Amino acid sequence: MIDTRDLAYLDMAEALAVKALGATRPNPHVGAVVVRDGRIVGSGFHAAAGKPHAEIIALQEAGDQARRATLYLSLEPCIHWGRTPPCCESVLASGVRRVVVANLDPNPAIHGRGVRNLRRAGIAVDVAGRPERKSGLNEMHAAYIVNGRPFVTLKAALSADGKLATRTGEARWVSSPEAREYAHFLRSENDAILVGAGTVAADDPRLTVRPPGRKGKPIHRAILDPKLQLPAGARLLEKNCGGPVLVYTRSASGDSGHGRRMMRLRGLGAEVVPVPENRGRLDLRRVLADLARREIAGLLVEGGGRTASAFLSSGLVDKAVFMIAPLLIGGPGAVGLWEGAGTSRLSEALRFVKSSAFRLGGDLVVEGYF
Ligand SMILES: [Zn+2]
Repeated sequence: MIDTRDLAYLDMAEALAVKALGATRPNPHVGAVVVRDGRIVGSGFHAAAGKPHAEIIALQEAGDQARRATLYLSLEPCIHWGRTPPCCESVLASGVRRVVVANLDPNPAIHGRGVRNLRRAGIAVDVAGRPERKSGLNEMHAAYIVNGRPFVTLKAALSADGKLATRTGEARWVSSPEAREYAHFLRSENDAILVGAGTVAADDPRLTVRPPGRKGKPIHRAILDPKLQLPAGARLLEKNCGGPVLVYTRSASGDSGHGRRMMRLRGLGAEVVPVPENRGRLDLRRVLADLARREIAGLLVEGGGRTASAFLSSGLVDKAVFMIAPLLIGGPGAVGLWEGAGTSRLSEALRFVKSSAFRLGGDLVVEGYF
């Protein structure tokens, strides 16, 4: 039985897990709290792959006091040898009497087995079975494990009439400074950012992470560039400016300059990855498969119009974050979020299965899941 006190400790474990948000790739975020006689005697969170798991840190801190204590975990303990030994064994050795977990592991290789393992050894285990935490903790990891591809978030700053830019391509700044700060927070939650070559040509972004009050982390920067038009002077190619640069381009090209441009970009430190085309466009599934191989669990797609449209048309967007600014752009020549034919019937429209909205600066932020 789980009581309100248990739920409060689970909240605490989840709050600890959030401290490493975006840093544990490809592992899930996990927090742990050890409580004995109503007192917290140990706590910890998983900080990064290869570092100790949350329960190990918490149990070590608790030491002898872990005996007969209760261990609260935001995710069930692992049972397999990965980069570190399985946690179940350490939990058993610690002498805790009871374990309360917020959720089972989405990884089918573990799902429920950690809990069964402990129960078989005589430990009382309660599972809260929280469907999903408010912040969507581990939503990226779960999708990465279950779908074998990164969890894709599409972020876009839109005018209130759904335009990304004016007909002349002007897009800076549709959104407010607060929304742009929030965009940096979104980057920090993800493992990679993706834009199209057109966005690089228009905005020359660095695609780095500058979250307010947090240390920036190197993040993979992926560019869809079928014709390899990325200019050598692009700011994202500057040395020490951010994480690795991945340029996805078409694999079959009759263009003799393509190979030369590929060599030049490689010479500038970018990794050029050829992918097959699908109906005249880079096959996004192949791009995502490549990112998954690099242990990218969360991908933030930042546009522009062609890229956003390609992801939406392929049905590869898991979550959308739209920052809607209080202005209208208008005109058929303005760049819309989703170009192309669109859907003919409302019944075929892409629909959020879950959504929420909040005010940020002068903007309205709408977040939805497909
Ligand atoms: Zn573990």
